Order: sequence, then C-alpha cells, then structure tokens
Amino acid sequence: MPIRPVRLFGDPVLTTPADQVTTFDAELRRLVRDLDETLYDQRGSGLAAPQIGVSLRVFVFHDEDVAGHLVNPVLDFPDEEEQDGPEGCLSLPGLYFDTKRRLNVVAKGFTASGDPVQVVGAGHLARCLQHETDHLDGVLFIDRMDRDRRKAAMRAIREADWNGIAPPAVKISPHRMANGYT
Ligand SMILES: [Zn+2]
Repeated sequence: MPIRPVRLFGDPVLTTPADQVTTFDAELRRLVRDLDETLYDQRGSGLAAPQIGVSLRVFVFHDEDVAGHLVNPVLDFPDEEEQDGPEGCLSLPGLYFDTKRRLNVVAKGFTASGDPVQVVGAGHLARCLQHETDHLDGVLFIDRMDRDRRKAAMRAIREADWNGIAPPAVKISPHRMANGYT
C-alpha cells in the first residue's frame, strides 16, 4: 500500500503536534518510501507524515533539482529576509493563498538511517521546508496568515466542495501543480 490517502483539512491529525522519531528502522524507511510515492502521485512539492495519518516528525520534499526527506527537522534562519507569494497544501486541494515566509532556511535533521543531514533552501525550497516543518507542529499555512488573509482563506475553504475522496475540479497550470502544492 505505498500510495496512501492524503488527509484533508478538518482531520484532527493535521492539528496535532507529531512525535519525535526515536527508532530508525525498516518501518521508518517504509514510511519515507510511502511518503515519496504519495507525493509523486499527487505531483506535490512536499508531504509530511501527519498528512497520511502518521503522527511522526518526518517529511519528504521534491523541489526543482533537490529531493529528499528529513526526520526530526529543526529550522535555522540565517537572515531576516522574507518572501510573499502563493502557497498550497495537498490537505487543502485546489486552493492557493499568498503566505509570507522567510526567504532562506537551513533545515537540520536526520535521514531514515539516522545519519545527520542538512538542507539549505532559498525561495520555493525554503517555503516548502517551512510549510512541512509546520505540519509536524500541527500548524497549517492558513495559521501563518494575517487576519484579513486568513478570513478570505477560510471563506474559500468553506466554499470548497471536498467530499474526502475527490478534490474539487480547479484548473491549475501544470507548472503550479508540479511546484505549488506542499
Ligand atoms: Zn501542506
């Protein structure tokens, strides 16, 4: 069962802080494989374990030329620079909202084998790393918005006709589809 159903907004697992990984075993490597295959299937740019119902601090990411996974990630911000632009989430299918993020990030964590690893990200990759790490804290990108943007986002979410199986038919360019969802 490598491709797993993605949990949608409203599922309590998405607002629950995930547990630290303490055992780096075959089961963890299977989880990373399932996340990778589900992300590839969904044509997203990042997917966190809680999004497939597993409350562990693990995510995978596919950016333009960087792909990988991080276990127990911790973010460092090397400067104060910010970016603002559209962000999406596989748990809120079809919806994009402008979200402010830091421009540069250094994510430190471990591979599924327990080796320390560091990912340096700018721009879209930095946005993805912040979005996925937030998922591990039970934080969604709409929680990162100011009041007005969040209000507009909540309205769009209420109007989105998800039935838990099929995402709404929203036209998105293939580029956005490939790079926007996280
Ligand atoms: Zn997301």
